[in-house]
Amino acid sequence: MEFKAHEISDQIKIAYKYSFGGQSRFFLELKDNKKLYGTKCTKCGYVWMPPRTHCSKCYVPTEWIPLKDTGTIMVSTIVWYGAAEFIKNVPYGVGYIKLDGADTSIFQGIFSENLVPSKIKQGSRVRAVFLKRREGKAKDFFFVPEEEYVSWINKPEYEGGLE
Ligand SMILES: [Zn+2]
Repeated sequence: MEFKAHEISDQIKIAYKYSFGGQSRFFLELKDNKKLYGTKCTKCGYVWMPPRTHCSKCYVPTEWIPLKDTGTIMVSTIVWYGAAEFIKNVPYGVGYIKLDGADTSIFQGIFSENLVPSKIKQGSRVRAVFLKRREGKAKDFFFVPEEEYVSWINKPEYEGGLE
């Protein structure tokens, strides 16, 4: 006789939390203070953004340092097929942004009121805009062309960082 599995449909609801571990301070500073923190190697001085708890060149611990919310686009593209959470933003830019004072680049969204490739090209200056309702997640902030900054932070759902 052929095997036949007896199946019952059910649902499992799980409440859980996960930890950002050694990177926690980055997300707490983002959420509570609208500050972008990187880490600096205590031996060679290399500044990591996104932060790393240990320098990948020297393997020694790093220390936390606040970085500016301005930076330069190193490489970028325009997204036409986004994940569910970002579908309402399509099309939008993404890219690697090197914050002023950092030695590495962070991958993040780059929004523009008039999105064309020339607006987010390599070498363009950008500035971070923060959600007013932050949860301590990477999507709590994004970058905009510097010339659009004031317009973005005047929208009801966004705000600028602290000087
Ligand atoms: Zn180092």
